[in-house]
Amino acid sequence: MPGKRLRAAIVGGGIGGLSAANALASRGIDVAVFEQAAALGEVGAGVFIYPNALRQLERMGLKEPLAAVGARVGTGSEYCRMDGSVVGKILTTDSSGWNGLYGMHRADLLDVLADAIPSSAVHTGHRCVGFDQNDRAAQLTFSNGETIETDLVVAADGIQSSLQKYVVAPSMPEYSGSRAYRGLIASEKVPWWRKEAHQVWMGDGKHFMVFPVRSGQLLNYVGFVPTEDQTIESWSAIGDRDELAASFAGWDPRVVGLLEQVETCFWWGLYDRTPLASWSKGRIALLGDAAHAMLPHVGQGANQAIEDGVALAVFLEGRDSSNVAEALRRYENFRRERTGIVQAEARRNGLRYDSRYPSLEQRDREIANAAVFRKWLYDYDVERAAIAYLDENRTSEPA
Ligand SMILES: Cc1cc2nc3c(=O)[nH]c(=O)nc-3n(C[C@H](O)[C@H](O)[C@H](O)COP(=O)(O)OP(=O)(O)OC[C@H]3O[C@@H](n4cnc5c(N)ncnc54)[C@H](O)[C@@H]3O)c2cc1C
Repeated sequence: MPGKRLRAAIVGGGIGGLSAANALASRGIDVAVFEQAAALGEVGAGVFIYPNALRQLERMGLKEPLAAVGARVGTGSEYCRMDGSVVGKILTTDSSGWNGLYGMHRADLLDVLADAIPSSAVHTGHRCVGFDQNDRAAQLTFSNGETIETDLVVAADGIQSSLQKYVVAPSMPEYSGSRAYRGLIASEKVPWWRKEAHQVWMGDGKHFMVFPVRSGQLLNYVGFVPTEDQTIESWSAIGDRDELAASFAGWDPRVVGLLEQVETCFWWGLYDRTPLASWSKGRIALLGDAAHAMLPHVGQGANQAIEDGVALAVFLEGRDSSNVAEALRRYENFRRERTGIVQAEARRNGLRYDSRYPSLEQRDREIANAAVFRKWLYDYDVERAAIAYLDENRTSEPA
């Protein structure tokens, strides 16, 4: 019906789902977010927001709230060997020199995203258990007995997506053989830390990294260690701080000193997926980890999810319910190449960071050259690229 606003139901109130809600709302689409948890929330750990995502979030009007809680990352950011000898600098600007890079507490980022949409659009305590669609609409069913009708569904329900099966034959996440221990330390306990520094130490089968979050009040650390057993995928799994410290014994005194300050930590098994055969079917599309789960070794899972939401909004703007499927196909065709490249590079970078290279000289050369890939990541403007793609394909694809 002309003039009727398109309705999007987003399943999952994580970083992907909430950033998609902001992007879609900013292009005139009615959004409703359905989250299984009783309240929106993220684990006590950090996440990097890089220029490719920050430029989009700032355009959505989130510049000030993000600046209020982000920690600038810049000066002193380096890749080192396990003994602290420097291999190269970490690129912290895009090609224009913009230092659009924050270390963020995950909960702070989630709050900024949630505060920017009406609270009435967020429905917690809604675990989606069923999906159906026909020519006219899509339906979702929830474990609390509710059902809703909508024009389209965005499955932003994470790596264990239960909606993925309505789009593509389900595939199991692949275990990387590595576990991430992570947590936060008050910066005042580590007064020698250079305020804006992101530091990566690369050792034999392991790596460690630190960066500031929450306006520099906290330091986020992550220790990646190999494991035989497939660590459960849960943020609430409490890690063993002594085991963590023992894993990095004898490393650069800065790593050892920092780990002495750890009181509690979480652990997380690292999984990804090889790219899926498709991301959309009719009125449903996958987004974020549900679409392209990747290893964290280029820090892009959430950033790519943010890009997804912006692209989706560009393709859906001005559409009506009858041509949603075509818009979702365009979104998928447009996004898959870039996310596939990032997924593959995340795996490769994990091998570099863990020194799983026949020649460490070769590894060091590639690390020292990491700025080439980082520029490709950071300089990208997904909104502009999606609009250009739409213009190019307007005539070649049926609308
Ligand atoms: C150690 C580590 C470090 C990382 N560091 C970075 C980084 O620096 N930068 C970066 O960009 N990325 C990073 N990532 C990746 C990033 O965390 C993820 O890619 C991102 O959080 C995915 O967001 P998402 O919204 O797609 O999924 P999730 O965050 O998993 O959110 C999914 C949401 O859906 C909900 N849900 C699930 N099923 C249902 C259902 N049936 N009904 C309703 N709700 C449901 C869940 O409760 C959850 O809230 C890192 C990952 C790890 C493991």
